[in-house]
Amino acid sequence: MNAVSIAPTNHVVGPRLSIDLDAVAANTRLFVGRAAGEIMAVVKADGLGHGAADVARTALANGATRLGVTSIGEAVGLRFDGLTAPVLSWLNAKGADWDLAVRYDVELAVPSVDHLEAIERTTTGARIHLHLDTGMARDGASPSDWAELCRAARVAERRGRLQVVGVMGHLGCADDPSEECNRTARQLFDWGVGTAWSAGLRPQHRHLAATAATLTDPDAHHTMSRIGAGLVGIDPSRTVALKPALTLRAPLVSVRTVGAGTPVGYGHAWTAPAATRLGLLPVGYADGLPRIASGRAEVLVGGQRRPLVGRISMDMAVVDLGDAAVTLGDDVVILGPGHAGEPTVREWAAWADTIEHEIVTGLGARLQRTTSVAATRPDVLRTV
Ligand SMILES: *Cc1c(COP(=O)(O)O)cnc(C)c1O
Repeated sequence: MNAVSIAPTNHVVGPRLSIDLDAVAANTRLFVGRAAGEIMAVVKADGLGHGAADVARTALANGATRLGVTSIGEAVGLRFDGLTAPVLSWLNAKGADWDLAVRYDVELAVPSVDHLEAIERTTTGARIHLHLDTGMARDGASPSDWAELCRAARVAERRGRLQVVGVMGHLGCADDPSEECNRTARQLFDWGVGTAWSAGLRPQHRHLAATAATLTDPDAHHTMSRIGAGLVGIDPSRTVALKPALTLRAPLVSVRTVGAGTPVGYGHAWTAPAATRLGLLPVGYADGLPRIASGRAEVLVGGQRRPLVGRISMDMAVVDLGDAAVTLGDDVVILGPGHAGEPTVREWAAWADTIEHEIVTGLGARLQRTTSVAATRPDVLRTV
């Protein structure tokens, strides 16, 4: 026997993502205290899903001095949002709009002579950071091309076409400080800086460390740390307690009683072993709940951990309420900092066989977002 009741539709009360900028502020201050040099707040991927402009403003108000993103488009977006701090963009195709970047005062990472020539050809006055691949075979110039890149950059500089203000690298194994590849990468970076210097360049910014190395490897600090994940409470090195900033809630849209043997959801992937109550949550993989977490994930319902059952669908998920004391329309906490017993981003990452970064950047645009900050920093939030 199935009994079902449906909550009235209410557009305001749907799944809601709250973003706590005070957590971002506290995390920023921790990194300012730990780093030997400046803090570049990395706000790529919409501030790892937390709102690029809000995270940027919060970080700058708490000691960060510069901003970093991947594309020129993201950097110009920050300018449109009123941010005036120095900003670096490090991942662009050769045909990117370099002149737009210069007009919006965006500094550019340069990974090849091809990029350098494209910049020289299309704009004047670019401030560039030469980007060395320090052992990931991903972005940045390979060491075998580095000396030539430095020489070409110096020629361009002497012609007055651009200015080399930085040298950057990136660590592939910083999560584990005991890995030998960290030392190899540091030595390669030192060699890269020396080579730039020998070519006559005088880059004032030398930056290698991101979140993990800033926390665990002082030898990697140089003049600046580029911090992304750490600002939003993710510590890949698992050495400090940062503050997570996200809470995701969704209301119970329906509650039904089902008998033993009732199959649930697509593919009937789960069958109720005994009579129970099932709650429906209007949030699914299109909102960023990983489908692979089906059968593993839990949520907090009326103060109790309860399992999601059956497959997570595109727009909804089903929770086995058991005897949890809940009423239709009550909020269920899907993830949060964990203070009240709700699952954390780290747990969701484990359920989904992934890292926390993928969970926070995947939480979708369809979620209603509210951003909060202590009244002591009203300047941080732009009034729209
Ligand atoms: C994403 C990124 C960072 C920030 O790394 P976190 O580990 O998130 O702090 C720094 N540098 C580069 C080149 C990046 O792509």
